[in-house]
Amino acid sequence: MSKSPYLDIKKDFPVLNREFDGKPLVYLDTAATSQKPTVVIDAMDHFYRESYGTVRRGVYRLSEKATQAYESTRHKVAKLINASSDREIIYTRGCTESLNLVAYSYGRSVLKSGDEIILSQIEHHANIVPWQIVREMTGAVIKIIPCNDRGELFLEEYRKLLSPRAKIVAVNHVSNALGTINPIKEIAKLAHEAGAVMVVDGAQSISHMTVDVQDLGADFYAFSSHKMFGPTGAGILYGRYDLLEKMPPFQGGGDMIRQVTFEKTTYQDPPHRFEAGTPSIVEVLGLGVAVDYLQSVGLDKIAGHEHALLEYGTKLLSGIPGVRLIGTAEHKGAILGFELDGVHPHDIGTLLDMDGIAIRAGHHCAQPTMQRFGVPATARASLGPYNTEADLDALAAGIQKIRGMFHH
Ligand SMILES: *Cc1c(COP(=O)(O)O)cnc(C)c1O
Repeated sequence: MSKSPYLDIKKDFPVLNREFDGKPLVYLDTAATSQKPTVVIDAMDHFYRESYGTVRRGVYRLSEKATQAYESTRHKVAKLINASSDREIIYTRGCTESLNLVAYSYGRSVLKSGDEIILSQIEHHANIVPWQIVREMTGAVIKIIPCNDRGELFLEEYRKLLSPRAKIVAVNHVSNALGTINPIKEIAKLAHEAGAVMVVDGAQSISHMTVDVQDLGADFYAFSSHKMFGPTGAGILYGRYDLLEKMPPFQGGGDMIRQVTFEKTTYQDPPHRFEAGTPSIVEVLGLGVAVDYLQSVGLDKIAGHEHALLEYGTKLLSGIPGVRLIGTAEHKGAILGFELDGVHPHDIGTLLDMDGIAIRAGHHCAQPTMQRFGVPATARASLGPYNTEADLDALAAGIQKIRGMFHH
């Protein structure tokens, strides 16, 4: 008996059993946000009904219980990414906030005029714009690692960019527009040899493969709950403790202080130093349940499932005349960016939606990537562990239909 590489978990996600105009929803926009399994939805609902209270402040039992539940996510996340301590896990509102935290707190405090920040050509705006803002504040310089026509970074060019002036290298683990899986371990090793720290944008990797921050050599690793089957409004920044310890606060307010007088305020140790104000309590709890869910399905199984689907989808789409895949790296996550000759990506998206097929069309918050490939936008189908070959068959049929409307 041949072993199927596929999982069968669509049933865990209520919204995926919906229909639009009698057609089953085909959800192909997981790179923008993932759908939520029943266990996460129910846990949050239950928490609001039974256990909701503020955290880290209350002396009453409800708050103590809520605090325990809230803090337990820290441990789950630390285990998920093999951090060496729970204290290295900072709760944020999302990957964007995590990257801003590194830029403002770490970047602004270490960068001097003429120091260099190295980014790649295929970053999300969330890993570009905060560094540009910090560049304005510090006089630092941004250098870019270019990529080839498949969307793979030129490591030789990267080597040439590295010098003692390089202080920060910030690269995504997986590109959200192209799907390229970047060789972070190698990039980090070279960064460290030059004396720079490695910041990794893990938004597109965290729920698609096993991530081990220590093995990768990531000094910072950022991601969002909502792309890993958890709720919106929560995110994580992992940071090496010895770096976090030296970093100034990012935002000031309640919970991040030790003592406040009008003359002087002292701060908490990490991670609480970076967690000002009432946090996203229920969202953090939901994220913990999402981590449990991810691990019960198994990240290696998810990676196998998505890889099989990627190969299936790549074959289907490349067989359609007029389709050009954008992002054809050898090591690739389950993201299919494409153009269809003579049809604007937004029209593709709108027409597919009429068949209940949800894809993304646009620049994917990665305008420099679009510029590199000479297109204003692409259509993008991105996959999750709940997708099936039938979803891709529907996509291919939908594209064929659009071709028929535009070419005859
Ligand atoms: C989605 C995404 C982000 C930003 O995540 P938010 O959840 O919007 O904060 C950053 N980088 C990459 C690669 C992404 O895909």
